[in-house]
Amino acid sequence: MKFPILKEGALLPLVESFYTIQGEGFNTGKPAYFIRLGGCDVGCSWCDAKETWNPSLYPPVPVEDIVKEALNYPAKAIVITGGEPLNYPLEKLCSLLKSNGLEIFLETSGSSSISGNFDWICLSPKKKKPPVQEIYKIASELKVIIENEEDFIWAEKNKALVGNNCMLYLQPEWSRIKTMLPVIIEYVKANPCWNISLQTHKYMNIP
Ligand code: SF4
Repeated sequence: MKFPILKEGALLPLVESFYTIQGEGFNTGKPAYFIRLGGCDVGCSWCDAKETWNPSLYPPVPVEDIVKEALNYPAKAIVITGGEPLNYPLEKLCSLLKSNGLEIFLETSGSSSISGNFDWICLSPKKKKPPVQEIYKIASELKVIIENEEDFIWAEKNKALVGNNCMLYLQPEWSRIKTMLPVIIEYVKANPCWNISLQTHKYMNIP
C-alpha cells in the first residue's frame, strides 16, 4: 500500500489524540498525550486498532494544529502511535513537539524506515512485515506480543538484533491472556533478561 505523504509530513492523517496514562511497556503508568496516525499495512489478525488501517478515512491535519491541541494539556510526554506512524516522515511533528519542551515516545512495528527524533523508541516487531534492520540498534525497548508458543522463537530472534541496553518485554495478546500469561510467567522466570508487559490501560478502563 502507498501512503500519501503530504507536504513532507507537514500534514498527517490524524485518527485521534487524547490525554491518558501509558498502559504498557517501559513507560507504563506515565501520563502521556497520545497522537494516533492512520495507516498500517502490516495486517496483524489480532490488531486492536483495525479502524486505523485505511489512512484515507482520516483527513490530513497540519502538525501545528496537532501540537497546539497537545499543549492544552499538562502532558510532558507524547506517544506517537498508529496504525504505523513510520509510514510518514515525522521530522516536522517531532521538531515542533521538541521545540515546546515535550518528550516524544514512538510506538512502532519498525516496518518502515525511521524518521524524526525520539526520546524513547518502543519496537514491537511483527512477523507479517518484519522491522527494517536499521531500527534494531536504536530501539530503547523491544516489546514482543505473545499469541502462542511459537512467538517465543520470534521474540528471541528479535532480541538477538537489538542493542545491549534495549529493555526486553513480552506482552500477552489480549484475547489470549488467560492461556498465555501463565506460560509467559514461567518463560520470564527461566529467562530473566525478559520482563512482562501487560496492557494495564485495559484494566483501568482508559484509552
Ligand atoms: S502493526 Fe500495529 S497497527 Fe498495524 S496491524 Fe499490527 S497491531 Fe495493528
